[in-house]
Amino acid sequence: MPFIITDPCIETKDTACVDVCPVDCIHPRKDEAEFAEATMLYIHPEECIDCGACVPACPVAAIYESIDATPSHQATLIEANAVYRLGDADAMAQAEALVQQHVAAHPDIMAIPAAERQASHARF
Ligand code: SF4
Ligand code: SF4
Repeated sequence: MPFIITDPCIETKDTACVDVCPVDCIHPRKDEAEFAEATMLYIHPEECIDCGACVPACPVAAIYESIDATPSHQATLIEANAVYRLGDADAMAQAEALVQQHVAAHPDIMAIPAAERQASHARF
């Protein structure tokens, strides 16, 4: 079961997780062309080895340990993580569209500052 990046990454995107991932499965990295345009980062669901190193590294607790552990209101972002693995321009556009869909569908969650957002997930 892959780890999943969720909405506190939006507006944060600091790549602390990238620096600790032993298998380089979190994208886009700062040195990848797509980084500037990406709204958040994504974990490749098949390359992730479930080591857990990224979880304590994330300053906003955006990363859940599995799909099952991820709140149902983040389901669109589970799909975005999965789509982005394809890595081409179309996949990135699809992932970004899913992120915008999530943002539009959850103004209540997104109104909470990124640093406090994960703690609020249980309320929604
Ligand atoms: S759980 Fe490990 S392998 Fe998976 S994204 Fe996090 S650091 Fe990378
Ligand atoms: S450490 Fe957290 S906020 Fe930073 S890029 Fe990774 S998932 Fe996003």
